[in-house]
Amino acid sequence: MNLLSKLSVSALALSVVACAGEETPPTAPEAVVAAEPAAEPAAVEAEAPEVMSEDVLAFDIGEINALALTDGQFTMPVDQSPFGAQPLEDVVEALDDAGLESDTLSLSLHPMLLEGTILFDTGTGGPPAGGLMTSLSDAGVEPADITDIFISHSHFDHVGGLITSDGEPAFPNATVRMSVEEWDFMQTNEEQSAIVAAVSPMVETFEAGTADILPGITSLDTHGHTPGHSGFRITSGEETLLYVGDSMHHFVLSVGHPGWTIAFDMNEPVARASREALLAELAESGETIFAYHFPFPGVGHIETNAEGFVFVED
Ligand SMILES: [Zn+2]
Repeated sequence: MNLLSKLSVSALALSVVACAGEETPPTAPEAVVAAEPAAEPAAVEAEAPEVMSEDVLAFDIGEINALALTDGQFTMPVDQSPFGAQPLEDVVEALDDAGLESDTLSLSLHPMLLEGTILFDTGTGGPPAGGLMTSLSDAGVEPADITDIFISHSHFDHVGGLITSDGEPAFPNATVRMSVEEWDFMQTNEEQSAIVAAVSPMVETFEAGTADILPGITSLDTHGHTPGHSGFRITSGEETLLYVGDSMHHFVLSVGHPGWTIAFDMNEPVARASREALLAELAESGETIFAYHFPFPGVGHIETNAEGFVFVED
């Protein structure tokens, strides 16, 4: 493991905002703070995320060690964003109000890894992103180490990394897990035929809402974005984390305006209802979420303020 530095959460949050849409490395030297002396018990208790490289960040879910792994970033002119069903001025105003750049829209892509072996989604597998293998290598993990891959849904930015550029399974020892409905959908999708052909023998499906697909990992039916889209709840002792997949895409637009569907929501009314219900539940529970497309690492929780729902980074 190559532990380069430890950042305070606030320094990390600042650097994430600073690098949105740019190539600036998130670990600017002035952002680095010294690790707390080991002699202070309070410092030992602190759960500051550990930056293992600029693309890998470690955190804990109870006793489980977890990594956020960068695959890349989508940056697009705001008038070509997938929120195009919404009047452009509304989108620009929402971005302005949040203090974000409003001429471009950025979505991060970052799979999650548990215990060095259980992967959640796989990135694009190539341009315009495709950095997952480098991030895994930075974390000291070999593709052959991966035993299980949970797929939230079968869009290319989540399943593209299942195969190599030669069309071979990228994670040869893994069981690929997705809902029955999603696998049915994926097999009828001509665009994914190469991936389907390569990974078919590795796929094991589950019914939406199945508890303990693996110990402590439960599926949550969040279909609408795709026919079998799933979230996943990871439980360790008293702690839980909800991997929300593409139930929400943008940390300001999707959370603050859950009624705004995006171009990739296949069933818009269901996707909207699913997102609204999930946000209400998350605001009530305060449960930690992992959001694949929010600014890296996308770990935080949902709160309610006078305006509506907001995402607060942990
Ligand atoms: Zn996505």
